[in-house]
Amino acid sequence: MAQICGIVILITLMVLYLIQKKLYLRSERTFFGMLLLMLVTHCLDIFSLWAIENASTLPDWFVITACKVYLISLVMCITGTVIYICGDIFRKQKDYYKKAISFIIPSAIGIIFVAALPLYIYQDSIVAYTYGSSAIATYVTAFFYICTILPLICIYRKQINRDRRFATFVWMALWAIAALIQFFVPSLLLVSFAGSIGMMILYITLEDPGMNINKQTGLFNQNAFMEYIRQSFDTNTSVALIQISIDGYSKEMYKEFSWENAENLLGTGGRALVFRRSEDELVLVFDYAGEALEWEKSFDEKISHSDNSDYIRLRYAFRTVIADSLQLSSSDELIHFLKYSANIQYADSKKGKHTRVIADSETLLSMRRERDVEQLIEDAIESDRVEVYYQPIFSTDKQKFTSAEALIRLRDGDGNIVSPGVFIPVAERNGKILDLGRIVLENVCRFIKEENPAGYGIEYIEVNLSVAQCARESLAADCIDIIDKYSIASERINFEITESASLNSKDIFMKNLERLMDYGISFSLDDFGTGQSNLNYIVDMPVDIVKFDRDMINAFFANRKARYVMEAAIQMIRGLGLKIVAEGIETESQYLKMKEMGINYIQGYFFSKPLSEKEFKIFISENNCKVF
Ligand code: C2E
Ligand code: MG
Ligand code: MG
Repeated sequence: MAQICGIVILITLMVLYLIQKKLYLRSERTFFGMLLLMLVTHCLDIFSLWAIENASTLPDWFVITACKVYLISLVMCITGTVIYICGDIFRKQKDYYKKAISFIIPSAIGIIFVAALPLYIYQDSIVAYTYGSSAIATYVTAFFYICTILPLICIYRKQINRDRRFATFVWMALWAIAALIQFFVPSLLLVSFAGSIGMMILYITLEDPGMNINKQTGLFNQNAFMEYIRQSFDTNTSVALIQISIDGYSKEMYKEFSWENAENLLGTGGRALVFRRSEDELVLVFDYAGEALEWEKSFDEKISHSDNSDYIRLRYAFRTVIADSLQLSSSDELIHFLKYSANIQYADSKKGKHTRVIADSETLLSMRRERDVEQLIEDAIESDRVEVYYQPIFSTDKQKFTSAEALIRLRDGDGNIVSPGVFIPVAERNGKILDLGRIVLENVCRFIKEENPAGYGIEYIEVNLSVAQCARESLAADCIDIIDKYSIASERINFEITESASLNSKDIFMKNLERLMDYGISFSLDDFGTGQSNLNYIVDMPVDIVKFDRDMINAFFANRKARYVMEAAIQMIRGLGLKIVAEGIETESQYLKMKEMGINYIQGYFFSKPLSEKEFKIFISENNCKVF
């Protein structure tokens, strides 16, 4: 009876498995092989029972052989389980097959014993079963494998998918219990039934091909994509990928896209696997680069002049092409590249450019460089290698240094200083700027609290706020928390903001500014004159100081037109009652000219480069005539 139930379960699983759309991954194929093996074992189980029941009319050798064949198939099933699990453990290793085969050797020895040793049949009017050293050899081999699998799962738990670990544990436990029961009560024939229940658990938790399908579209999903890409790297097989992000220029465009019809719209003609990686991203995977590029060409021709609304959406979608996946070192790097290209496309779209990113050597190089910088930032944060330098700012009215700009520095593993130009843009993109910004503000507040620079004429410290910080709703609250923590006066801090910071989320930005102003903090407008700033903007912004960028200052000394522009700007800014800082002043003549033009503050190498905290203390104590 148990065997019949087992067969029903296995056939149901096979039918369910066969009718669904699949990727034919290695694990899927192994699983199907195991289903087949398990089914054969069940049939052999029933056949051997039939042979035992009819032993009186059948030759002895026939009955014994039928029973032994069943026992051998049982050993093979358990061996299959080990190979299936090895698929996860050794997937990355080139000698996967060798390793898998080495696990077959004990099974082969077990099979020889099962075949060679004597087997006896017990039968009465109620029960029928086999016993003897051949049956014991089966149990010993089965236990050997169960005892191998469990420690294997523990040792290699990181490599094994969590669900697979769980399912295999349950499966092995079921098998072990069934085998134990059958060993002590041979009339209860539960072993093969336990195997089929194990397969069912595995199917439900892991091997149901439906789990790889996006229900709405019938396309493969992100899970399937990851499995597929991992396998292609594991087996060193190159594929060509084209990612299409439907959102493209306008957010939420994907909602109107006819997702149900996506495969038809793309018209791959079965040449590519189509995955829906996320809400708005499709990835087409081709076997060869040539196929992918050919498809892209004809697809572009099709959509370029069409007025079908879906084609228009596809026309404005972002596109990323990876002609040879093995240009990337791993599936993780490939996913990273897709993210990296999305960042490029997003940034370009803001500038009105529509970029198709290709994984060529140049783009890959800059991605890897960026990754190195990301690592550098992470390491620096983790090992406390973020420092704040201070560049003194000279007041032309008071003829002394009255403030300073806090400028971030990172040290790499060798202790060398890395300048912000290298890591700030990367940190802006990956969000680490939020951590860095917090660390800088903490450092500045600690410095003000411990050293009280106001006692030596430094009225406030200017702290740069990044675009990403300004877009955070919690910016004001976070900053106030830090300032409160060190209980320093809010007038000691001046935040430098840029025009670009207000472009994204202006409402949030303005609310934050108001809250910080109410708290007593003042603001400077940084980067004035870099093209990211205009005069109208100053009128709207609640800033006290405008900082003329070094480029603007250099242009002032280099050409007449720039001189007129700057003179007009000075007039206007003064008219608004704001103060001006000239940045990047490197020579005495530049300084004298700025002073003559009525610029309030001077910052530049002429007075000092940015200094470490210690150097800054010495500099101020020497130059502002007091000792720190
Ligand atoms: P910025 O805020 O405009 O800072 C002024 C930059 O000009 C500093 O470069 C400073 O060292 C440099 N500089 C000042 N005087 C001279 C000069 O006479 N000649 C020359 N050649 N350069 C001069 P730095 O420290 O490399 O910083 C570059 C940019 O990185 C900053 O421009 C700012 O946008 C950003 N940054 C620096 N620290 C932080 C920070 O803590 N947070 C954020 N979000 N950004 C920061
Ligand atoms: Mg600045
Ligand atoms: Mg500046």
